[in-house]
Amino acid sequence: MAKEAKEARRAKTSSKRPKVVSIDVYKAWCKGCGICVAFCPKDVLAQDEEGHAYPKNIEACIACMQCELRCPDFAITVMTEERLNLGKGGR
Ligand code: SF4
Ligand code: SF4
Repeated sequence: MAKEAKEARRAKTSSKRPKVVSIDVYKAWCKGCGICVAFCPKDVLAQDEEGHAYPKNIEACIACMQCELRCPDFAITVMTEERLNLGKGGR
């Protein structure tokens, strides 16, 4: 019984997690400071040879938005299904 309750809770939680569609870095604005990489709690981001951030492991992203919030240059955007739907006039 306890096991069933646990599984139900897990299913509920995972379905609430926003689905990440893409993580986009606008290279013209990214100065390669690495702040987003350092603050990402899931080790999703890395820097290329020029220092620009890129998603190396997008599947692990939990859409916490720390990278977006911490980027001093507004160069990184995490696109979730929810945000896409808002753009299409959804809720
Ligand atoms: S925090 Fe912003 S400027 Fe710094 S590496 Fe990440 S995306 Fe680039
Ligand atoms: S939204 Fe959170 S988990 Fe996803 S890349 Fe940004 S900091 Fe990492």
